Amino acid sequence: MSKLFFIDCSKAAECCNKSQYKEARPMEKMMLFFHLAFCRACRKFSTKNSKLTEAIQKSNLQSCTEEQKQAWREQIKKEFAEDNVQ
Ligand SMILES: [Zn+2]
Repeated sequence: MSKLFFIDCSKAAECCNKSQYKEARPMEKMMLFFHLAFCRACRKFSTKNSKLTEAIQKSNLQSCTEEQKQAWREQIKKEFAEDNVQ
């Protein structure tokens, strides 16, 4: 296996962000895939990131009430708080 596939965590995060917005090149997606296969921290980051993107897209799609917006904010805050504890 080529060294080309081994990228560090900051590069993986960058690729992950790009792929959320469909800007990653096939090569970057490939490298990200390999990195996520053996890096637990980045897998967690990737999951959280897609949850956030989903929440943002949802809030854009529907006109939601202030209560719903507040609930999302609380949920996001909670997830980050849990992350900081560990
Ligand atoms: Zn990593």
